[in-house]
Amino acid sequence: MELACLDLEGVLIPEIWVKFAEKTGIEALKATTRDIADYDELMTMRLNELKKHQLGIREIQDVIATLAPLDGAADFLDWLRERFQVVILSDTFYEFAGPLMAQLGYPTLLCHKLTVDDGGNVVNYNLRQANPKRQAIVAFKSIYYRTIAAGDSYNDTTMLAEADAGIFFHAPQNVIEEFPQFPATNTYDELRHAFIDASIRPLSF
Ligand SMILES: [Mg+2]
Repeated sequence: MELACLDLEGVLIPEIWVKFAEKTGIEALKATTRDIADYDELMTMRLNELKKHQLGIREIQDVIATLAPLDGAADFLDWLRERFQVVILSDTFYEFAGPLMAQLGYPTLLCHKLTVDDGGNVVNYNLRQANPKRQAIVAFKSIYYRTIAAGDSYNDTTMLAEADAGIFFHAPQNVIEEFPQFPATNTYDELRHAFIDASIRPLSF
């Protein structure tokens, strides 16, 4: 059997923190791992900003619920689910992804978790495990699934390398050049064709 493993942000939905920063106008929340390389420092800053602006989980989810998946993402996901078992491997948090997952029909999602206190305040974050995307592929391989993975950035490359086949979607040019072994796609039709090419089964478009 073959599993399709997809990154979430940049592949099916926009970058949540960036969109959230735009919607709320909180400038500091536009920072990403490109601006603050230390993930713990970045997340601590984000949680402090949420606290400062008195944004609890309810307010955050209300804002995120106004976001939509990328154009064509839902159709692509439906197409993929007819041909593969699909698992989404993401570095987002369940509490953030929820409103967008509803719009995608709640596909299987492995990601991180927030700690929310009784008052609805986000007080901490909990990573699922170290190197979570790659480890998920390792686990699927251990139960003899063949894996095809697609992602858009650096944090996906260990997943793409561990999978039986890896595909880039909307990746920045410098990332594509650094990992020329992965086919680079930029539209959902190109991504569909890349999954067909990577499959060992005769699939129709
Ligand atoms: Mg991504």
